[in-house]
Amino acid sequence: MEFLKTTIEYLKGVGPLRAETLNKEARVFTFNDLLHYFPFRYVDRSVFHQVIDIPGIPSEVQLKGVVTSVQEVGASRKKRLVAQFKDDTGVIELVWFKGIKWVKPTLIVGKTYLVYGKANQYGSKWNIAHPEIDPYEKVKVPSGMLQPIYHSGEKLSAKGLNTRGIEKIIRNLLAVSKGKIPESLTQDIIDKHKLMERDFAYQCIHIPTNSADLKKALMRLKFEELFFLQLAINKQKITAQRKIKGYVFSSVGDCFNEFYKSHLPFELTGAQKRVVKQIRKDLGSGLHMNRLLQGDVGSGKTLVAVLNMLIAIDNGYQTCLMAPTEILAIQHFNTISELLKEMSVSIELLTGSSSKAKRSTIHTTLKEGSLNILIGTHALLEDVVEFKNLGLAIIDEQHRFGVAQRSKLWKKNTQPPHILVMTATPIPRTLAMTFYGDLDVSVIDEMPPGRKEIKTIHQFDKGRLKVFQFVEDEIKKGRQVYIVYPLIEESQKLDYKDLMDGFESISRRFPLPNYRVSIVHGKMKSADKEYEMQQFATGQTQIMVATTVIEVGVNVPNASVMIVESAEKFGLSQLHQLRGRVGRGAEQSYCILMTSYKLSEEARLRMETMVRTNDGFEIAEVDLRMRGPGDIMGTQQSGIVDLKLADLAKDNQLIHLARDAAQQLLKEDPDLTNPKNFLVRNELIRQMKLKPNWSRIS
Ligand code: ADP
Ligand code: MG
Repeated sequence: MEFLKTTIEYLKGVGPLRAETLNKEARVFTFNDLLHYFPFRYVDRSVFHQVIDIPGIPSEVQLKGVVTSVQEVGASRKKRLVAQFKDDTGVIELVWFKGIKWVKPTLIVGKTYLVYGKANQYGSKWNIAHPEIDPYEKVKVPSGMLQPIYHSGEKLSAKGLNTRGIEKIIRNLLAVSKGKIPESLTQDIIDKHKLMERDFAYQCIHIPTNSADLKKALMRLKFEELFFLQLAINKQKITAQRKIKGYVFSSVGDCFNEFYKSHLPFELTGAQKRVVKQIRKDLGSGLHMNRLLQGDVGSGKTLVAVLNMLIAIDNGYQTCLMAPTEILAIQHFNTISELLKEMSVSIELLTGSSSKAKRSTIHTTLKEGSLNILIGTHALLEDVVEFKNLGLAIIDEQHRFGVAQRSKLWKKNTQPPHILVMTATPIPRTLAMTFYGDLDVSVIDEMPPGRKEIKTIHQFDKGRLKVFQFVEDEIKKGRQVYIVYPLIEESQKLDYKDLMDGFESISRRFPLPNYRVSIVHGKMKSADKEYEMQQFATGQTQIMVATTVIEVGVNVPNASVMIVESAEKFGLSQLHQLRGRVGRGAEQSYCILMTSYKLSEEARLRMETMVRTNDGFEIAEVDLRMRGPGDIMGTQQSGIVDLKLADLAKDNQLIHLARDAAQQLLKEDPDLTNPKNFLVRNELIRQMKLKPNWSRIS
């Protein structure tokens, strides 16, 4: 253990100067850090491509050949270094735009080199920009053996720490660490999953002698990474449950029963019933509830929330619902007020634009306890908002709130309220297990009856006339239409121009008095926004032109067409959210994705996915593979899982195995006090110290 903490300076081949560069450029400070400086790629040095074959190879190529000339071309800023490189079959150019000073002296005409990189075509010529290049005689790797490639950079290379230099010092490290890298998993786990031993795994990942060993080493180290992450999350969950007593909502009382018997607007779906039961059981258990409610757009999460609020009220507690945007908060307030209008329950709305007078009544009634339900935005989190006895806090559309905000709600009471988090769109299971591992999960996996599949169509801009004709036909049938424009932070000005241009041309195409068009965007006053929304919701206007402010939650069942302009600028979950605004009534609904003709490969895949499926869980999986977990969960949370090897998007099966193993272990030994689990315990403590982020997971 102590050995791995040794400062890198003391490793053979490093010394103070290189140590400083390693600190700064690679964040490598200790032996342990260097051990975890993994290769990002391996090269089989015995296999070469030939220059003549390059046009048919889409990926990187490895060539063996001779440098025949080296030349600096162009002046000052446009200067580049060009080398002609020749093998038995042809010639290709190697080009450098940066670092010319230190690359040039390494290129000697007439000498044989190994070159690795991606070839690009320029006119009839091919070149490789910034290739990896090594003198052939220096590469002393037996055939069939894999050579590790490490990330380097100008400053590291200048100190002799290019990939080869790094490989050298890592070899030195591995030579002195034999027998000093302790095992971190129990023998049971190692046997059960047939894992490679830890110290051998480090050997193999840095210096693999064959690809089978490399695979096993990778699997072992990924498993370990995921296992300790899951162990930390689940350990915290146990600790939290021990520390925090939950309010006991022992009975389902008058409010719930009256509503359920007399005012329920429709029969609950099987899934809604199941989830309500799950939550009811939680609330009555005496444990603190911390639950994630997942359900696809339109699956009816609001009603589940309302039923739970009534249980809280029946037990003498107040409850609140927090939404990420004002429009959504208003919408929830309207829906819930409508649902509960026959009942003697008091409800208020609190947002950033609530009047002073309103606020002050809310503050008073909340504190004295006469206000039962408070619905609002972030405004709920302000310190002046004090409850008499908040028993249940519901958060809608979680991914917009950070972890810190969630925990702020906890502090609204001496004893934390039960927490129910509702997601806007499904989250892939592996992410839910990791980012919400401290939460129990309920899933509504069934849509209300009678819904027709929304038909999704991808149209290029030139098909607009046809689309407008279609809109006209739908409106004649009495339907309503959304037309949504993107609004991207960086190009706000242009986007607003597009929006206004669009609004004008739509107003021209659909003129008064037969048609009325609403517009809603972020620059409007919230009273105006609400007025326009209301106009549309009540059918006074037939078309709603908007930016993504309507993305989440808005509910107008008579709207049957969603047109998304510049759909290529939207992410998958956003598109799915937008599509979820229609298909809420009994009519056949449509989603039309308008894009320009030229699309990136990813944009094309997004459109194809949307056209292919309506299943939010499936879309979430595609999204995860395309964007990676950091992007999906937002920057605030991505730091939590700083995984070096495992990939939350790809290592599905391993994540499940690791979680099961962690949970099993904690079930047998929650405090890891059994001597046979000491290795695990030590490693967990060590990692918790290294990753203070983990303490923020819940
Ligand atoms: P989301 O899960 O996206 O928040 P909502 O709660 O807004 O979905 O519900 C979507 C629509 O489905 C609403 O119009 C709601 O009234 C309706 N709805 C909810 N539950 C049922 C049900 N059991 N039967 C029929 N319609 C329902
Ligand atoms: Mg909703």
